[in-house]
Amino acid sequence: MTLRAGVVGQPIRHSLSPLIHAAWLRAAGIDGTYEAFEVPAGTLARFVEGRVGGLVGLNVTLPLKEEALALAHEASARAIAAGAANLLIFQQNGTILADNTDGLGLMAAFAAQSPGFDAASGPVVVLGAGGAARGAAATLSALAPSVRVVNRTLAKAEALRDQIGGPVEAWPLAEAARAFEGAVAVVNATSAGLSGEGSLDLPLEALPADCVVMDMVYKPLETELLRLARARKLRTVDGLEMLIGQARPSFEAFYGQPPPDLDVRALALKALGG
Ligand code: NAP
Repeated sequence: MTLRAGVVGQPIRHSLSPLIHAAWLRAAGIDGTYEAFEVPAGTLARFVEGRVGGLVGLNVTLPLKEEALALAHEASARAIAAGAANLLIFQQNGTILADNTDGLGLMAAFAAQSPGFDAASGPVVVLGAGGAARGAAATLSALAPSVRVVNRTLAKAEALRDQIGGPVEAWPLAEAARAFEGAVAVVNATSAGLSGEGSLDLPLEALPADCVVMDMVYKPLETELLRLARARKLRTVDGLEMLIGQARPSFEAFYGQPPPDLDVRALALKALGG
């Protein structure tokens, strides 16, 4: 039987996930498909209804990650901690399990592009307080001694701190220089840096020389933030590596085996025009 999976979101046309999963499926010789479905906010439950038997699962992207968690019958601890799901598994008994592999993707990206990085070695900074920031803060809060969530709208950072608790702190963007002091990593989980979304004006000079700068944005791959960090000789980690890192455990959940060894990064770079 063909194993059918896919990704839902809006806009979804430019998602790289179908390219990545299709390449793995071909290389592994699996009888499976992976499609992109345009699903507007507020309509995920309706979309999923009736498809539970026909699909093995779905990846979920903007703006549906909270809806995905809400409609599931069961959720993993990491999806609950993140308050969002990027993966829905349609189980054989007809129930839906929500999971979140974004945190795994984030840490896989650090391991691939900044080997030896240890989140336990000092404070980490997360820029932003939306869904992606919440996932990153939830993952890092289990590893780092402090997680400084820095956001333009302080109230959102405070809400995130209150929700996750533990070592999470809330900081206004205006105090980024102080939040950067002694940081071992900065993770940009804002949408600033996306093509056409403007950029952040950050005091990178306040960062220690051994700090790692990560940007979740991968369009463009070299964001203004990564370019400025490299110019300061800081180590960097890009958003494409995180995208591939979250796709690996999703593939295994859909098709029952880990993805084969294949340079999907090269394929994705080609699609991005790099
Ligand atoms: P979101 O919920 O819309 O949150 C956006 C955040 O960005 C908010 O905290 C917002 O601040 C902040 N922001 C937006 N424009 C800003 C600006 N000009 N200056 C300062 N702050 C600004 O979005 P999300 O779902 O968290 O996603 C954030 C980014 O992560 C997106 O670009 C997404 O594509 C990327 N992402 C990548 C991966 C990957 O695998 N690479 C995975 C997940 C997400 P306010 O609260 O003040 O509005």
